[in-house]
Amino acid sequence: MYLWRNRKRVDQTLINRAKGLIHEANNIVITAHKSPDGDAVGSVWGLCLYLRKLGKQAIVVLPDPAAEFLDWIPGSKETLFFNKSSEVCEKALRDADLWFALDYNTRSRTGTDMAAVLNTLEAPCVMIDHHHQPETFPTVLFSDTTMCSTAQMVYMFIEAMGDADKIDENIGACLYCGIMTDTGSFRFPSVTPKTHEIVAELIRKGVDHAQIHRNVYDTNLLDRLRLVGYALSEKLMVFETYHTAIISLTKDELSRFSYRPGDTEGLVNQALSIKGVNFAVFVREGNNEVKLSFRSQGSFDVNTFARAHFSGGGHFNAAGGMSVESIDFVLQKLQDLLPEYQEQLTYTL
Ligand code: 5GP
Ligand code: MN
Repeated sequence: MYLWRNRKRVDQTLINRAKGLIHEANNIVITAHKSPDGDAVGSVWGLCLYLRKLGKQAIVVLPDPAAEFLDWIPGSKETLFFNKSSEVCEKALRDADLWFALDYNTRSRTGTDMAAVLNTLEAPCVMIDHHHQPETFPTVLFSDTTMCSTAQMVYMFIEAMGDADKIDENIGACLYCGIMTDTGSFRFPSVTPKTHEIVAELIRKGVDHAQIHRNVYDTNLLDRLRLVGYALSEKLMVFETYHTAIISLTKDELSRFSYRPGDTEGLVNQALSIKGVNFAVFVREGNNEVKLSFRSQGSFDVNTFARAHFSGGGHFNAAGGMSVESIDFVLQKLQDLLPEYQEQLTYTL
């Protein structure tokens, strides 16, 4: 196993290994996690279009579709979805002589069915990811938890391959979207001078950053805006003693506003924006499970919290998890946990 961990530069030994694997491969499949976000879709398509420029046959297999506001991503209309055409996807994965795992650290993040296939693949795998505690199976593992986004890692990967000049407007748009969405539009502490150097270079290459921002953030349907309004005015609970805010939405409430994937994106950050709140949780009732999103500001580690209580994980200040209990049970469990964390949650930024 090879690691690129918490280093400013990409390890050239790893690049040479990956280069060898790409050179030998003809059928390459690129994957990302379930409920893919802007970083996942941007990274897979940025990499896929780059590999095609090298003359490789490359396709993208995702567990399920992303939100509609990512439909404009160059190439993405060709994506194969495991939840829609599992046989085609399974065959593509089994026929691959090299596969990439982008923006996830464990195969379970692709969902039970797709993970079952990934677990049995014999072809070499290159993982590029910025989440904590990656699995050790990949043939080449690029793991750096200090990186703001996988898309930035993909840019640095292509750059270290000596191919920065192959990044064109389309590849650039994919990577710009990944960096923009995973950094809350360049505002999180994980953003570095290198991030800005990369996006400057992408804009120089012709990427229309204003249009990408509009595509992602200014294409709301009225129902979505009303759902956000309802959640903030009716469903936001603040626990001042614990510097915590919780928003929850049931299936009924979601369907009242014709919920579509992505509609609740960013809601948890709005809860976190309340003065004095260090920890925000968004709880959404799904068909078979309850999904949780955790965000913190400062020293409260939501990755550890999500792992300990909600079979999840992620990053220090942004994590997710799930539960198969009822939404009422989950909300009670959250509130019961808060006193235990009162000391850790009490600080001023
Ligand atoms: P979000 O709240 O936006 O869905 O996810 C925030 C972060 O937590 C992302 O980096 C995502 O990869 C991670 N994450 C979300 N849900 C899960 C989960 O169920 N398990 C794990 N391990 N990580 C998750
Ligand atoms: Mn990411």
